[in-house]
Amino acid sequence: MKTQMLSAQRPEDIAAAAGLLRNGKLVAIPTETVYGLGANGLDENAVLRIFEAKGRPQDNPLILHISEPKELESICHDIPAQAWLLAEHFWPGPLTMVMPRGPEVSDVTCAGLDTVGVRMPSHPVVQQVIKASGVAFAAPSANRSGKPSTTTAAHVLHDMDGRIEAILDGGPCEVGVESTIVDLTGERPRLLRPGGVTPEELRALLGELDIDRAVLGQISNDAVVRAPGMKYKHYAPSAGVYIISGSSEAAARYIRRRFGPGDAVLCFAEELPLYDGCNPTAYGSENDVRTLSAGLFAALRDLDRPDIRTIYARCPEGGGVAYAVGNRLKKAAAFRVVDAEHEA
Ligand code: AMP
Ligand code: MG
Repeated sequence: MKTQMLSAQRPEDIAAAAGLLRNGKLVAIPTETVYGLGANGLDENAVLRIFEAKGRPQDNPLILHISEPKELESICHDIPAQAWLLAEHFWPGPLTMVMPRGPEVSDVTCAGLDTVGVRMPSHPVVQQVIKASGVAFAAPSANRSGKPSTTTAAHVLHDMDGRIEAILDGGPCEVGVESTIVDLTGERPRLLRPGGVTPEELRALLGELDIDRAVLGQISNDAVVRAPGMKYKHYAPSAGVYIISGSSEAAARYIRRRFGPGDAVLCFAEELPLYDGCNPTAYGSENDVRTLSAGLFAALRDLDRPDIRTIYARCPEGGGVAYAVGNRLKKAAAFRVVDAEHEA
């Protein structure tokens, strides 16, 4: 299969992408979070091809993307008041809600669960494509399963060339990490995945929010979890990633003492001078966490090379968007964190 490159700047290319989706084809589409690998969410065969193209296990559900909050009514049932409140505040935007699934949504999209994840993205290109195609589309991130999500069209081409019909190039993604996921099917709202909408923002609106244990630590492959996708290895380059916490100076001392052939350093821009001779990679500025979220996956991809065996990484601390960046980096590191202040 030849993968066609389309440009979001050309109206005829938007129409072409919409036409392909309507006809059961796979198209990678830019969103404000990461590139999505879209297929008509009501066409079971098209959705099955997403799993094939990604090499994704079929018990890992997909998110449905809509262009109006009222479309929720045809996708979900027993929609709680909290969902309308969240939609009003954060849609369009990087927030996915998990709710009881309506009868029209296919088993394949939801991986057989009785719930469905729904999001209304804000990126103008994805909105145009949904409206032009007239279909709510299912889309996971447009990467090969297990690899970091794609935040540029070039990354999508690298992972998906020959596997999907088209890539709609809309430039780099602004948020850079996948959507926040909140589960509204339990007694209390539960954060399944942190993202651009922060836990603080959700708590301020909902009054309460539980944090799922998959956000906090590693989950075993045999575990029974609400969202099966949470137990799979994610965001990982081939190298072993270790997070080195503590002050910039203590971390640099720790890393420099061990640094050798096959090692790489992933740090904040402010720390580059501390790693002279180590060929460090900066993924953003410590003082502007949104640059870190926007740059993390591109940097992990840059460092996914056969000659790199160990990556020493610096990770932002705290809440807000830093919480989402920390979660992705810790997952890439299989939650291996070394405190440089207390380790010589
Ligand atoms: P991706 O877009 O690749 O990050 O994948 C979508 C992710 O959304 C899945 O891996 C799940 O973690 C989550 N998800 C989608 N649908 C549901 C659902 N019905 N229940 C819980 N989590 C879901
Ligand atoms: Mg993904």
